[in-house]
Amino acid sequence: MRIAVVGSGYVGLVSGTCFADFGHVVTCIDSDEAKIEALNKGVMPIYEPGLDHLVANNTAAGRLLFTTDLAAAVSQAEAVFIAVGTPSRRGDGHADLSYVYAVARDVARNVKGFTVVVTKSTVPVGTGDEVERIIRETNPEADVAVVSNPEFLREGAAIEDFKRPDRIVVGIEDERARAVMTEVYRPLYLNKAPLVFTARRTSELIKYASNAFLAMKITFINEIADLCEAVGSNVQDVAHGIGLDNRIGGKFLHAGPGYGGSCFPKDTLALVKTAQDHGSPLRLIETTVAINDQRKRAMARKIVRAMGGDVRGRTVALLGLTFKPNTDDMRESPAISIVQGLQDAGARVRAYDPEGMEAAKAVVSDVAFGPDPYSIAEGVDALVLVTEWDAFRALDFPRLRLIMNDSLFIDLRNVYRRELIARHGFRYVSIGRPDEDITAALSTAAE
Ligand code: NAD
Repeated sequence: MRIAVVGSGYVGLVSGTCFADFGHVVTCIDSDEAKIEALNKGVMPIYEPGLDHLVANNTAAGRLLFTTDLAAAVSQAEAVFIAVGTPSRRGDGHADLSYVYAVARDVARNVKGFTVVVTKSTVPVGTGDEVERIIRETNPEADVAVVSNPEFLREGAAIEDFKRPDRIVVGIEDERARAVMTEVYRPLYLNKAPLVFTARRTSELIKYASNAFLAMKITFINEIADLCEAVGSNVQDVAHGIGLDNRIGGKFLHAGPGYGGSCFPKDTLALVKTAQDHGSPLRLIETTVAINDQRKRAMARKIVRAMGGDVRGRTVALLGLTFKPNTDDMRESPAISIVQGLQDAGARVRAYDPEGMEAAKAVVSDVAFGPDPYSIAEGVDALVLVTEWDAFRALDFPRLRLIMNDSLFIDLRNVYRRELIARHGFRYVSIGRPDEDITAALSTAAE
């Protein structure tokens, strides 16, 4: 099957490459000439483990092409995927659909024969109706079926997620699209990935409801972590204890500095706006958004508190900046609020991230970046683990103890155990786990 994918970012590039790997002939299109030029030279515009090899293999096999020429690719395609960005609209938090609609117009002008136009971007309920209206208005002759097929991949595990999804959701209004979409995903279907067909508006909502639920789950355990700190319980044990219940499940119960990334913040906000517009507000999600926003900033206050309350003129080194490991994506990363909060309190900030430093330079200022954890730790008053990259899971604490000014280690991802860190002479502060001082204070209070 011939497929065109419009938008070659995280989702478009991964989807297009995986479709090619299934054996389809795929053209990935982007309006960013530099991105296409780089891809044609084998240079990846994003960091995603395994992607470069998959792109190289499928390009060599002649099944994967990159171009800025939408017209030629769309006119030959049986299925056209729209995978452009849907960022938060400035000012009101609604999803900005201008990129999606612009592509719909371009596609309408260039389709030949029956074509399935698939929205893979995350779009609010009713966008498929509008895409269809735009296509019919732009080209009344166009023979298209507009489909919703939201993407659930996670950055950092995108290829695995795409090839072994929990489910594939396809929203159709025109029965002719069913056969085409079944053919597109046949290799996964044979792999037993459930292909769930729904109405188009339902499919659009499934994506938002999934992300909102996951954001709420993270926020729930983050609040439980705060309570654990107050009462002397251990959030990891609580998460384990509740997660073993099949009705709850153990995933997305890792307490931390708040969710970030290119999806949860904008998608929760857009869902809240959609719900308000339809007079059916989602109070749980509104609260989730508010709690998470406050939490990111609260992490800076937590660091300041751990440093004794006054950080003016003192130096903090951050390990990790991206919103999660294995990506270079800095969008809405908690690290941004942490850097700003620390700088506002008068601290100097240093940082190292294995892949995110270039992207970070665009969103934080006055940060001294270093090439590894030890170079930034030299002479600092506190070392803070912000993103749980594997490279930070076995730090050389004796070496850190020698080079740091003050031996304070703050672990915002609960990667380490207190006993290990304390053995090396460090003071250890983590999230939602008993602090020696708190445990002592609580037992004194109880006596
Ligand atoms: P991105 O910003 O990485 O990529 C979008 C690409 O579209 C860019 O390369 C841009 O140049 C290109 N583009 C914009 N307008 C274009 C046009 N008119 N013609 C051709 N190309 C154009 O975005 P992304 O992270 O891949 O997200 C895309 C969509 O997928 C969003 O709706 C997002 O919410 C959703 N999504 C993202 C993820 C994720 O993990 N990033 C996961 C699931 C769903």
